[in-house]
Amino acid sequence: MKLKADIVIVGGGVVGATIARELSRFNVKTVLVERREDLARGSSGANSGIVHAGYDPEPKTLMAKYNVKGCAMYPVLAEELGFPYKPVGSLVIAFDEGGMETVRKLYARGLKNGVPDMEIIDGDKAREIEPNLSQEVVGALWARSAGIISPYEATIAFAENAAVNGVQFLLEQPVKAIAKENGLFTVTTKDYEITAEVVINCAGIAAGEVSAMAGAEEITISQRKGEYTLYDRNLGGFAKTVIFQTPDAAGKGVLVTPTAEGNLLLGPSSDPIAEDDPAPTATTQEGQDKIFAMGRKSTPNLPFGGAITGFAGIRAVFGSDFYIAPSEKVENFIQVAGICSPGLTSAPAIAEDVAQMAADLLKKQGVEVTKKENWISTREAIPSVREMSWDERAALCKEDPAYGRIVCRCETVTEGQIRKALRSPIPVYTIDGVKRRCRAGMGRCQGSFCTPVVMKIISEESGIPFDQIRKAGEGTTIAQGKLKEI
Ligand SMILES: Cc1cc2nc3c(=O)[nH]c(=O)nc-3n(C[C@H](O)[C@H](O)[C@H](O)COP(=O)(O)OP(=O)(O)OC[C@H]3O[C@@H](n4cnc5c(N)ncnc54)[C@H](O)[C@@H]3O)c2cc1C
Repeated sequence: MKLKADIVIVGGGVVGATIARELSRFNVKTVLVERREDLARGSSGANSGIVHAGYDPEPKTLMAKYNVKGCAMYPVLAEELGFPYKPVGSLVIAFDEGGMETVRKLYARGLKNGVPDMEIIDGDKAREIEPNLSQEVVGALWARSAGIISPYEATIAFAENAAVNGVQFLLEQPVKAIAKENGLFTVTTKDYEITAEVVINCAGIAAGEVSAMAGAEEITISQRKGEYTLYDRNLGGFAKTVIFQTPDAAGKGVLVTPTAEGNLLLGPSSDPIAEDDPAPTATTQEGQDKIFAMGRKSTPNLPFGGAITGFAGIRAVFGSDFYIAPSEKVENFIQVAGICSPGLTSAPAIAEDVAQMAADLLKKQGVEVTKKENWISTREAIPSVREMSWDERAALCKEDPAYGRIVCRCETVTEGQIRKALRSPIPVYTIDGVKRRCRAGMGRCQGSFCTPVVMKIISEESGIPFDQIRKAGEGTTIAQGKLKEI
């Protein structure tokens, strides 16, 4: 199938999605291509979900600039786009004088980076903020501007808003080749040949491969696994804020944090990934034990039970800073690579600059680029029945009785929410797609009870036969045959 666009974005993580939203402000044709069956299937779907304050990056780096700016943007974005965000603040805790030295260094760095509302506090004050903190903690850096978000819900929200404003999203379309002839790119995916003036490389761990396809810079991404343990929501109150240990060369260390949806999260580890590892995002007993032990160092009362699942994400590291620039080898090819942590925090700020970069390149090509007068800044989120009062629930059920039928008991997700997720601007007809959009199957039983009903609703909404409904990508159907009707 042939398509004509002004701009092609490669990669549907938070970086691609935020850039798509920024570009949707302009009267240009933007197409985003993603190789997986859904958005946020790379690092953007498996990370700590922290909106970092910005004291970590070295001053004067792109990381420092975009981190601090992005952190300030999230409260407004969460409000406009209806994704979970909580301004809980963060603590970097120290256990001895060496740790306090790091805390002071981070504070000084934060000041240089322009981080607001930071304070160095003693152990007692830290325990006032976080009662479960170890008695061994002697002091901490308290950064009030840090927050937590749901990283996949945020990515989906950015993308849906871009779609409503005219960006075309093509899922399950891996880019296989990028050619350039007479100044025009042809991006070949599984089913499409898309011509475009500008291509933006936001392919995460595959940024090097995508760059090579275009004949642009050599980018060698190194990968490190980060494993997590997720606890049930009944332990959500265990941590009130994001608790970091002092960082080392491998990263920001193991954290104990509430999630924006009210669970408790522990992790990540930081382990190298072998090139031939067939399952780089698999969790291991060793990894889980390691993060539990480190979590207990920060918060000794951390309970052994209550974990409902584990997961892992892959860091895409390239040098010591983000690589965001037009290619010097291939004109009109923009590199947005090596977006490791704090990339989730930085994405909205990166997107503003990259969208402007792309618009300027288009103008240079003689394309008329104007701002839309009717651009829609907000998105209608899926109502969260769990968080509603009884009166609000009654009013919603009056409008649509499907909001009165609970499907996922652990997370109180109703049929109405699942149908709304499946009728969204970028519908994804998979079990995990529904889960990421409205939390059906996210709870204590991890979908043991609701999965067949979710599959039935997906089948009704999509017309896909029940036994062909997939959990996620290709080869993930789970029905073997019919025993009885559900
Ligand atoms: C363990 C861990 C913890 C982290 N914690 C935080 C945190 O708390 N706060 C924070 O700010 N940041 C954090 N980060 C960093 C953050 O997750 C990343 O910076 C961010 O998600 C990067 O987004 P991205 O869009 O560049 O990459 P990705 O989300 O990986 O997206 C890249 C996309 O490109 C697609 N793609 C690749 N090749 C192709 C192709 N050929 N054709 C089409 N599509 C393709 C992939 O499928 C993928 O969806 C963490 C990262 C990790 C791994």
